[in-house]
Order: sequence, then structure tokens, then C-alpha cells
Amino acid sequence: MSGRVIVVGSVNIDLVARVPHLPHPGETVTGGSYERHHGGKGGNQAVAAARLRRPTLFIGAVGDDTFEKEARRALSSERVDVSMVASLSGQPTGVALILVDATGENEIAVVPGANGAIEPGYVRDCLARLGPLVGDVMLVCNEVPLHVVREALMCGAAAGATTVLNPAPAIGIDRAIFGLADIVTPNRNELATLLQTEATRTGRRLDTSTDAAVRARALLEPGPEGPGVRKAVIVTLGASGVVVLERVGSGLSANDGPDAGPAADAVAAGGDETAATSGTPASTAAAPASRAASRSAAPRRSDLRVWEVTAEKVATVDSTGAGDAFCGALAAALAEGRPLSEAVQRAVAGGALATTHVGAREGMPTRAELEAFLAARQPA
Ligand code: ADP
Repeated sequence: MSGRVIVVGSVNIDLVARVPHLPHPGETVTGGSYERHHGGKGGNQAVAAARLRRPTLFIGAVGDDTFEKEARRALSSERVDVSMVASLSGQPTGVALILVDATGENEIAVVPGANGAIEPGYVRDCLARLGPLVGDVMLVCNEVPLHVVREALMCGAAAGATTVLNPAPAIGIDRAIFGLADIVTPNRNELATLLQTEATRTGRRLDTSTDAAVRARALLEPGPEGPGVRKAVIVTLGASGVVVLERVGSGLSANDGPDAGPAADAVAAGGDETAATSGTPASTAAAPASRAASRSAAPRRSDLRVWEVTAEKVATVDSTGAGDAFCGALAAALAEGRPLSEAVQRAVAGGALATTHVGAREGMPTRAELEAFLAARQPA
């Protein structure tokens, strides 16, 4: 079943000053150049999904200042439905003030403004008005208040949408939040922060493995504070691609079921190895996941399919926004009804293409670019 992408997140105006050197406290640096860009993870991810031609709706907020219309227009001109973007009086639109020196080193101050003032009730009302969400994919980032993230995930799941949490930034996200999501997509640093947060809160031992697949298992296992991620964890590893850990029977794969096939066998037998890097886990027979079962015990090794997808080789010029392109493309592909392995493959291609352009939102690939790229790399 295909559906919409519903993004709950942030929208910012990025004010970038390119300066001869970064100022010391109290110093004024004069000269250089100035640019204005559209940003915010939520806005970028929504544009990424919309450019891939998936009906995309954004739930978020702008202020009542001069940037309000500009921020809205930047989304609507990309065919993102902004009918549920609130204009909050007395709030500024979110801004990121970015200084970049001649070597590319930067200093960034983000003022969340309206992003930080969104109320959970607003998100709940929007989702209630949207009606049934089965087949839709809800993508939530953490540049809005934590209680808004939680509300969005709870309402999305209750309505039957597939929920994707991009834990960026990862600060403040605990099991009570990531345990509500079907899919969680940390990058390497965010994975470390999620695990460290839990270790600090609960005294749980930190796995010291350097293998992301091994460390990410803890997010799927039940912990002292509740169940783990409901269906899958996808760790993005920059130019090294991704590693995916998926519960067998998650319902995200084409032919899902209890027979984990070679990918899970590799994990079952080898302990912590991941399967081959084809990006295509073994097919299995249908058997829906049981939430209750996942709560009751840690997943056995054979309960997980683990696989890697290597990054696409491209001429990278700027990796800013790769994660947003990845998340938007993943959500778009899932909303098209594609199985997880295919959705991840398309997201990896989307992330790579984003790195071939300067800037974040500007670099989100179009559907035509993505299809042409994928077609060119298919074996004849
Ligand atoms: P974030 O931007 O959130 O830190 P990553 O840097 O992990 O996220 O990038 C997300 C995905 O984009 C990666 O998993 C990878 O598939 C793709 N990607 C990122 N950087 C590159 C690169 N230099 N070359 C090819 N693909 C890349």
C-alpha cells in the first residue's frame, strides 16, 4: 500500500557568513561574504521526499517575522504541503547563524525560535485531522521539543503509520522515545550518544565494540527502561554506507517471516558478524511481528537480520545534508510500499547524490536524478 510522507520537525533559515577567520570572544571580524539558505532537518527531509515525487506534508512551525513567508515558500515551491505549518505569534522563525572560515572550519549557533515552541497538542490535532495513516510514513527528527517527538511517534503508531525517528541531535533521546519508533536512523555519533545516555541513566554496561552492528543491537533489545526499537535500526556511516538491523517478522521486508535466511544465520552463527554487503537480506515467509514478544525478551541472534550496504562511489564535494537526503529517500521509498532492503538501497543512493552538490537542501536529488543514477549502476 502506498501513502504519504508526513514530516514532523524543524525549519530554519541558515545565515552563513564566510569570514577570513573565526572570531575570538569579543572580536569583530569584517569582510568575507554572506549567503542565506533554507535549512532545518525537518524542512530538508521533507524536500528530499517531495523531490522524489512522494506526496509530502510538513508539520512544524515558523514565527511571525520577516522569514515566515520565505520559509513557507521554500517548502511549498518544492511541492511540500505546508497547510499544517503553524505561524506562532511572538516567536522568531528558527535561524542557524553559521560562520565558516577560509579552511572550512565553522562555528554554528542555532536559535530554535518557533521550532522550540511547537506544542504536542498541535501535532496531535494535525494528525487527527489527517485521518487514517495506514500506509503513510511519519518521519520525525529531534530539532523540536522532546515531548513533541514523543507525541508524534505515539500518534503515528496508534494510527497505523510506519514511524521513522531520525535521532538528530541525539541529546535527550532515551528508550521511552526511541522505543516508540518502528525505525531509528542514527549516524555513528548519534548511536554513541544514545547508548551513552542509557548507560548513564541506568548503569547499563556500554558495549565497547567498535562494530556499529554489535553496538546497535542494544537499541533493539529491551532495556531497564522499556522495550527497544520496534522494527529496525539503520546506522548511517558516512562514506562507509550503512548497517541495518531488522527484526525478523518486522513486516518491513517483502516476504517476512521466522526463517531468517543467510543474513540472520551469519549473525546467529558468527556472533557479531554482519551478512554480505549486497543489501538484500534473504527472503522469508510472512509472519507479522509481535510487539508483546519483543517486549518479553532480548532478540536472539537469529531473530535479527543484519546486513550492510556499501556507500555509492560518487564525486563528493560537500557531505552536508547527506543524512537528511538519506532519511527523506528512505521515507519516500517506504511510503511507496517498497521493502526495507530496497528502500535502504535508494536512501544510500540519495545520500550519495546529495554529497555531489554544495549545500544541504539545495543538494537533495530529484526523482529523475535518483532513477538515472540507479539505472546506470544496474548490471546490464
Ligand atoms: P549524517 O549526515 O546524518 O551524518 P551520514 O554522513 O552517515 O549522515 O550520511 C548518510 C548516508 O549518506 C550514508 O550512510 C551514506 O549512504 C551516504 N553518504 C554520506 N557521505 C557519503 C560519501 N562521502 N559518499 C557516498 N555516500 C555518502
